Amino acid sequence: MNAPVPKQWIMDIAPYIPGRSTTDSGAKAVKLSSNENPLGTPPAAREAFLSAARDLERYPDASGSIVRDALAARHGLDPARIIYGNGSDEVLHLAAGAFSGPGDEVIFVHYGFAVYEIAARRTGATPVIAPDKDYATDVDAILACVTERTRIIFVANPNNPTGTFAPREEIARLHANLPAHVLLVLDHAYAEYIDGADDDGGMELARTAPNVLVTRTFSKMYGLAAERIGWGYAAEPIIQAMHRIRLPFSMTIAGQRAAVAALADEEWVTRCRADNARLRRWFTQEIAAMGNAGLRPIPSQANFVLVVFEGPLTAEAAYKGLMDEGYIVRWLPGQGLPQGLRITIGTEEETRGVAAALRRLVERAA
Ligand code: PMP
Repeated sequence: MNAPVPKQWIMDIAPYIPGRSTTDSGAKAVKLSSNENPLGTPPAAREAFLSAARDLERYPDASGSIVRDALAARHGLDPARIIYGNGSDEVLHLAAGAFSGPGDEVIFVHYGFAVYEIAARRTGATPVIAPDKDYATDVDAILACVTERTRIIFVANPNNPTGTFAPREEIARLHANLPAHVLLVLDHAYAEYIDGADDDGGMELARTAPNVLVTRTFSKMYGLAAERIGWGYAAEPIIQAMHRIRLPFSMTIAGQRAAVAALADEEWVTRCRADNARLRRWFTQEIAAMGNAGLRPIPSQANFVLVVFEGPLTAEAAYKGLMDEGYIVRWLPGQGLPQGLRITIGTEEETRGVAAALRRLVERAA
């Protein structure tokens, strides 16, 4: 052995591929590949971010107290039970790092968020993949995977990349049938986009159960993806275990201040949610109207729609065709969905534009 050897379980990880932001030619394009907020950042959050330029020589508050206090006040939570990190990605990694290791099993669905597998493998744990049912999370399939070696179950609700939503009763049934030693992680990155609510009841479970962690983010609805602020809520022993391995300063000063300001703008959430719901409904109907050409929209409760291609136009050809027309969307062969494109709901103009471009491609392929 004449060089450092990485752990085999690290080499088994397929690297995360982020949404692209430029086309093949480098031409300017409409980016609908990363589920960002097309309306931008709340103005007060931008101002708060800029104010941090005066304090660049100082370490940020490692306890994240202004963010925890603001979240506690906004959602009626105990600040001592809030964990935070460099995006909710870090919070998911902390959960895996604190609760799984070699010999343990971590369950998530086949069409699940790519970070779950990376987070599990990083700890040396074995990923266990539960099949979906017509692109939706299947609670019975997950329960069938549980063994005494299961340590964590990751469920995104709404799910990425399918946009599907498991109702509160299903999540309650999943939880009720789990052994007490299993940590149920409910990833609510898209919770603010659910019709009529910003919580499907998962937070209620996290408040009362000793083995439920809910994770949330400022990257989507709050328009702060660049600042990397995510958080989670669980029973105190779970949060304390995660704090032991947290990087001390993973939330920047600018990020902390921007998050607090964003949270105060409730009107922002109301407006963005209504806009997204209206355009999501319209876009879904447009795609359904292309059904005779084999396109199928999967019903979504998030800020994107998964389109499945079952006709002469393939998802790969549509991906390339849209790129040529200046629209970057997400093609998902790496997530077991070579027949799927995930398309973020953009502004009205972007959403109508990408639907029209798809229609042209469908007509050309006929
Ligand atoms: N969970 C899900 C389901 C997601 O889609 C994303 C963003 N792609 C995240 C978590 C992580 O988001 P962030 O790290 O920006 O909070």
